[in-house]
Amino acid sequence: MQLYKSLIFTTTCLILTLFTNSAYSSEVNVYSYRQPFLIQPIFDAFTRESGIDVNVVFAKKGLSERLKREGRNSPADLIFTVDIGRLIDVVNKDLVQGTSSTTLSNNIPSQYRDPEGKWFGLTTRTRSIYVSKERANLADIQRYEDLSNPAWKGRICTRSGKHPYNLALIASMIAHHGEEKATNWLKGVKANLARKPQGNDRAQVKAIKEGVCDISLGNNYYYGKMLNNPDQVEWANAVHITFPNQADRGTHVNISGMALTKHAPNKANAIKLMEFLSKKLAQKMYSEQNFEYPVNPSVEPSGLLQSWGNFKSDILPLSEVANLRKQAAKLVDRIGFDE
Ligand code: FE
Repeated sequence: MQLYKSLIFTTTCLILTLFTNSAYSSEVNVYSYRQPFLIQPIFDAFTRESGIDVNVVFAKKGLSERLKREGRNSPADLIFTVDIGRLIDVVNKDLVQGTSSTTLSNNIPSQYRDPEGKWFGLTTRTRSIYVSKERANLADIQRYEDLSNPAWKGRICTRSGKHPYNLALIASMIAHHGEEKATNWLKGVKANLARKPQGNDRAQVKAIKEGVCDISLGNNYYYGKMLNNPDQVEWANAVHITFPNQADRGTHVNISGMALTKHAPNKANAIKLMEFLSKKLAQKMYSEQNFEYPVNPSVEPSGLLQSWGNFKSDILPLSEVANLRKQAAKLVDRIGFDE
């Protein structure tokens, strides 16, 4: 009798689970490499507006491997990550599907989304040049190309050339100048390094503060983070943030973004969430949380970001940057940039 009862209970649970996971459920499941504090407030706003619950699994590593392992049985509908390289990785692993939506096409400029709709940008971040207020003249460092000027010998700091942020910048140099010129440029930058590439973007600004070097490469949101961190504000105060190549193609930018998983069980809800995230309220919240720029051109950046000045972004499609990443990585190895 006991066995019979527990069998009925198990069956009922199973049916209930199937039921709630079927078309009747009103939820969407997100795998996120982005930290919960960045996205949770926006997902809450979405739930209030749509009645659709958002379940988030956050991890620093391994989500795409998990998605692959789970295959058709994965509960994930959307994956959130930063950098075009990581978005392309999930495309190349065949873990996502293309989708089209007039809202998404209207809100997200074409250079920041995949032509096949397999990834979409949500925020942009510049690869800026940080310049010592005391020891360098802004007029002398206006372009990425200036980084190879022998005048800067021993005065530049950067993280590894193989880091996705630098690979994307190098890929954009290949796209604009061709492999040969890009190679000479990168050799020139290497010749100007004050020390072997090491640390993260903020560590380079710290090194400028400490007099190790005068110029560094770094994403713009780290400037906001340093200004808001009592232990790091003096690093930020030692530098200007600059937006290179304003007189020509514009500053290189990368994105944070999202992709619809291949087997998304709640596809319609997922697309609703994607559309919500491309609109004004979410764009404002999402970009302000991490000192990034809204990808939607009709949404203004935060006051702090506006205080750093307006700038023009390079409109080279990020899909082209993505295609040149491998070539960029080989180039970094070939010239021994990190050695
Ligand atoms: Fe970062």
